[in-house]
Amino acid sequence: MTAAPEELASVLAPVRHVLLDFDGPVCSVFAGFSAPDVARRLVELLSGPDGPPPGHDESDPLALLRRIADEREDLVPVADEALAQLEMEAVDLAQPTPGGVAFLEACAASGRSVWMVSNNATVAIERYLDAHGLRRLVAGQFGRVSGQPKSMKPSPQLLSAAMTAAEAKPGDCIFVGDAVRDVEAAHAAGMEAIGYANKPGKDAALTEAGATAVSTSMDDLAWAVMNRDV
Ligand SMILES: [Mg+2]
Repeated sequence: MTAAPEELASVLAPVRHVLLDFDGPVCSVFAGFSAPDVARRLVELLSGPDGPPPGHDESDPLALLRRIADEREDLVPVADEALAQLEMEAVDLAQPTPGGVAFLEACAASGRSVWMVSNNATVAIERYLDAHGLRRLVAGQFGRVSGQPKSMKPSPQLLSAAMTAAEAKPGDCIFVGDAVRDVEAAHAAGMEAIGYANKPGKDAALTEAGATAVSTSMDDLAWAVMNRDV
């Protein structure tokens, strides 16, 4: 069940710090340079005399990185760096999410800070924000820790880092993300989550995972941020 804008407004009313997933709520990172193509390029770069890396059949480059971390830890530094470079290429072709900028602007206008918390590389997030003139609307970026794929959500590590930077308590924060692992990471960090259901079926999955509210529209979330007293 998706939430009406008025319900979203009441969930967001006490929130001082919005922790925001990047791929989904802000843009579609792999809209132009597709995830399977990125994964294929990464496999090519990492294939050597011993053959392809573990996870070479994965079509999701972040899942591929996880498999490498699980099975070939020695490959992680070079794999993570190569993927970060490919993500830099991908964000140049990323598709902005409708309502994504409106949401960032609404947070700024209502005195809330926004912290980007993402499994993507921080350098790629910053490249996108700079290209779109959005850096002024974001207090900080917490992409996966370079060389440490285990920092990725559903680990709460990146959310905790953002909270520390914000000098915030979990109750002052909410995490907005489009994946079940975002909801899991939020709960592990002690905060609630709003699910952004940008594809059919995600609303049920995000609700099942325990999202406090689910919305299919970043514009609705922007409206809710600006209308806290409805
Ligand atoms: Mg996402």
